[in-house]
Amino acid sequence: MPIDPTLAYDDDNIFAKILRGEIPSTRVYEDEWAYAFEDINPQAEVHTLVIPKGRYVSWDDFSARAEAEEIAGFVRAVGKVARDKGLVETGYRMMANIGAHGGQEVAHLHVHLFGGEPLGPMIARR
Ligand code: AMP
Repeated sequence: MPIDPTLAYDDDNIFAKILRGEIPSTRVYEDEWAYAFEDINPQAEVHTLVIPKGRYVSWDDFSARAEAEEIAGFVRAVGKVARDKGLVETGYRMMANIGAHGGQEVAHLHVHLFGGEPLGPMIARR
């Protein structure tokens, strides 16, 4: 079920548990601001998730409340993961699902990085 975007941050969401080490994940990258790990149900040859370490539900929440250094750190981490995963040469897609219409299922901001193969149209055609 997509989440309600008006919900406050829930510390029991699955990515919060991953950040606390309560649930295993396949780590790709970590620094002060961000954690990257492999998606458990990959939708492309490469499907990696990058999340900020702070308690943010969505991109709009993050952009409104995060300190400038958190935002810079997270954005840099997404780019680093794309480079480290070898996605830059062939191209890739980044996506953040937000709220009900975006189909967001986990209420902790995450950027999907997809690549390793041609990815087709941006979204399902009407
Ligand atoms: P979204 O629809 O953007 O909220 O996507 C949530 C993503 O999290 C999906 O692609 C899931 O496959 C992924 N996911 C859910 N649980 C886990 C987990 N424990 N480890 C890694 N990825 C997960």
